[in-house]
This record gives sequence, C-alpha cells and structure tokens, in this order.
Amino acid sequence: RAKAEGPGRSTIFDTSMHDQARERIELEVALRQALSDDQLYVVYQPIVRLETGMPVGAEALVRWEHPTRGQIPPMLFIPIAEDSGLISQIGTFVRNEALRQLGVWRSQGVVSESFYLSINVSPRQLSEPDLPLVVSGELFKYGVPAQCVALEMTESVMVDGSSVTARVLHELRQLGAKLLVDDFGTGFSALGYLRRFPVTGVKIDRSFVIGLGKNVEDDEIVRAVVAMSHALGLSVIAEGVETVLQREALYHVGVVNGQGWLWGKAVPATEFAERWHLAAALPDIPLPVAAVTS
Ligand code: C2E
Ligand code: MG
Ligand code: MG
Ligand code: MG
Repeated sequence: RAKAEGPGRSTIFDTSMHDQARERIELEVALRQALSDDQLYVVYQPIVRLETGMPVGAEALVRWEHPTRGQIPPMLFIPIAEDSGLISQIGTFVRNEALRQLGVWRSQGVVSESFYLSINVSPRQLSEPDLPLVVSGELFKYGVPAQCVALEMTESVMVDGSSVTARVLHELRQLGAKLLVDDFGTGFSALGYLRRFPVTGVKIDRSFVIGLGKNVEDDEIVRAVVAMSHALGLSVIAEGVETVLQREALYHVGVVNGQGWLWGKAVPATEFAERWHLAAALPDIPLPVAAVTS
C-alpha cells in the first residue's frame, strides 16, 4: 500500500499504527451507535460461598453485540470508552439496568435480602463529583438498599486518584455501598491505600488463582493476602475459579467467597434467575466443602 500511495510515506505508520488508530476510531463511532441502538446489555455471574456453593451476589458485566461483527469483548471497548468519555454513559446504562433488575429480583423473591450486585466502575466515573448523588437517586428509584450494591474499582483508582476521587469514594461508602478492589494484586506493591480509602473487600485476581493446589508459591501468596485482608477487616473474593482443586485450596487458606466458571459463567438475567433462584432460596446450610459439586 505504501508503494501505491507514492514515495515519502512511512511504511511502518501505514501498516500498523495507522490501522490501529483507525480501528480505535471506528470502534468509538460504533460504540456511540451501540449506546443509541441498544446493542449493549448486562450479564450476571454468581459470586458464591465456597463452603456451600450458594450465591451471595453476582457481578454485572457489560456485553456488546455488534450487528455485523458479533460479540466485541469488554477488554477491547472499555479502554476506548474510558479514553473517549463514553464510559460515563455506559456506566449509567449498566448501573440502571443492574439496579432495576435487582429491584425486580428482590420483589419477586428470586434472591435473598442480602444478595448484592457488584458493578464495575472506571477511574473516570469515580472522578465525577456528582456520582454519589446520582447513585443515591438510582437506589431510591429502584428500591434497592445501598448494602446490596458493591462497586468494583482497580487499585490504580486509589493510587492515582485525585482528591475528588477520594471524596467520591468516601461519599459512596457513607451511602452504605460496598467498595471492592478488583484484580487485587496486579497493580501495586504499596498497600497503604487499603487503610486510606474506605475499601470493604478485595477480589484476588485470577492470575493468583490459576496455580492454586499445584504451585506452593501461589498457595502462600493467597494465604498471605487472606491473612492481611482479614486483619484489616476486609472481605475476600477469589476470581476466575475454574477447578475443584482451586476451590479446595482457596477454602483451606480461608477464602470465603469465589467467582468463576466452576459455578457459572456470566449469563443474561432470565437465565441467571432460572439457574439460581431456587438455590438462593435454600437455607445457607454449611456442607463439607468436598461434598459440593459443580
Ligand atoms: P473483571 O471486572 O475483573 O471481570 C471478571 C472477568 O473475568 C469477566 O470478563 C469474566 O467473564 C471473566 N471470568 C469470570 N470467571 C472466569 C473464569 O473462571 N475463568 C476465566 N478465564 N475468566 C473468568 P469480561 O466480562 O470479559 O470482562 C472483562 C473486564 O472488562 C472486566 O474484568 C472489567 O474490568 C471490564 N468490564 C466488564 N464490564 C464492565 C462494565 O460494565 N464497566 C466497566 N467499567 N468495566 C467493565
Ligand atoms: Mg470486576
Ligand atoms: Mg475482576
Ligand atoms: Mg480480573
């Protein structure tokens, strides 16, 4: 192509950077369209008690079904949404959809009183000073208690965040929402932010869960994370649990809650309710962990 366009143009730019930049712009345009054309929807993945396999909550995850390209993964479009500012609108959509759904599930008795939805929030959303007021209005609108909502943020939010972000986090916590550190362990070694910010729990990243039960070092890392978290009064959720071996190892180092394909992938609301409503209605009787099957 460089030849066809004549001499003096950079081949490297044409073949890689140009294509990447154009892909980004195309995705941004398509994402704007997706928001107005209802191509986005929300799926729910159970967060369970390791001991019983019963859901204590679920994570709401956004999905984008493009009319011609099909499913576009969040890993591809969330960073573009964040850079372009579209993340605010996406966040508003996901929150409203998730809170509306939780209100319905609560009134239908599909989920227990304490069941919570965990919603991802991007750094940019947490720098918006009116977020706590907006969230508080939404909770009222859908009849959902703040304790039934968790907001997930990455460590970078607290490490790089401005004083506005700090205030937003404190106000969200004051409302009663849980605040979880997502992908815990992947960001920074300085843990001081766990004391400075009103965090209520951590989600141990999948990369630490993969080797559990096989790799002694991973077992020890997770054991240490659990000990520290519990000493600080934080809850612990293990992400990306796929095998019985991992579940056993997590249980033995004291992790209480887990999320992963072992129990279920993220599915649309109807499917989630069908699969989990009876289970959620059962009393939370502790079973020996080895007796729990997927
Ligand atoms: P995350 O918040 O850490 O979400 C967990 C991701 O791990 C999800 O990917 C989930 O489908 C996947 N996962 C869950 N269990 C397993 C497992 O057992 N094995 C494996 N291999 N993967 C598992 P997903 O849905 O593709 O989302 C990717 C990331 O995109 C999320 O990571 C989150 O950072 C972001 N994201 C998704 N939805 C939203 C949203 O509504 N708002 C924002 N700001 N970010 C979102
Ligand atoms: Mg998350
Ligand atoms: Mg996560
Ligand atoms: Mg993760």
